[in-house]
Amino acid sequence: MIILPHQKPFHLNQLEALVPRMSQKDPLYLKLKDILHREKAGYEGEVSLDYYYNLLNLDPYPTLHSLRLKNGDTYFQIDTLILFPNVFLIIEVKNTSGLLKYHADTGLLVRENENGKLERFDDPQTQVKIQKLQFSTYLKKHNLTQNPISTLVVFAHPYAILEISGQAPNLILPSKLMDQIPALQKKYKNSHVKRPELIALGEHLARAHTPKIKNIVKDFNISPSRIKNGVRCTSCQTDMMIRQKQNWRCPTCQHKDRFAHIPALQDFKRIYGPEITIQQACLFLCVTPRVANYLLHTAGCKKVGKTKGAKYIIP
Ligand SMILES: [Zn+2]
Repeated sequence: MIILPHQKPFHLNQLEALVPRMSQKDPLYLKLKDILHREKAGYEGEVSLDYYYNLLNLDPYPTLHSLRLKNGDTYFQIDTLILFPNVFLIIEVKNTSGLLKYHADTGLLVRENENGKLERFDDPQTQVKIQKLQFSTYLKKHNLTQNPISTLVVFAHPYAILEISGQAPNLILPSKLMDQIPALQKKYKNSHVKRPELIALGEHLARAHTPKIKNIVKDFNISPSRIKNGVRCTSCQTDMMIRQKQNWRCPTCQHKDRFAHIPALQDFKRIYGPEITIQQACLFLCVTPRVANYLLHTAGCKKVGKTKGAKYIIP
């Protein structure tokens, strides 16, 4: 049972709205495009493992995705946490592609690039060890249900090749989940937490979950003049649509969509936040105040305040 579902991070949503609205000549364009690709692959990698969780019929067990908890002054994040009656399983998902070589003794994880250059990554085993320690401390500190904690690091990228020297049985490719999870379910025989208690724990953790809000527009100080206004075509996604006869039409692919302003307003919300004034809506949707007023209403935006300072909240 999914207690905390996968949730696209705020900054990934923001980048998806922002990058197509920036000029390719903007000095930040390539950097942001790169971050977007990396973040998207990371998120999709985590979601892709659902295929195995479904095959393994893990539905009865409380599961939390992208759980972020506060321990003292710091936060720690667990990609996926599955609460079995006999063991709590932490799954860390990696999205590195290519030939990855791991030396269990030294904890060195390197990737050999095409030009023969080596790239070093943080030791994933140390990383999950720290997560395990933080999670165990959290459970004790809050007087929550205890159980043995186990960890797996899954290299989810379809082009990842894993070469391990030494003992690191918890570093695996996704298909190995099919062996490792049933083995874990059998391993810890002395512990058995009842299902209502597991659910209560899952719900407690979900309530304590604090998603990370990283605002790219603010962090990189991107002024509105660098972000293109307009209603992006809901079909070809390349051009901005034109308002014509109470409809939106794309000059490139001729696609028509009466409701194309709704995703455009969602873009606005992801980039600038949920509040929008009539003036901002006129600028962003490229329409007159009368049309902007009508479109905001059809998009279900609530009006707050009166006369000059009135604002709309994008749902
Ligand atoms: Zn189009």
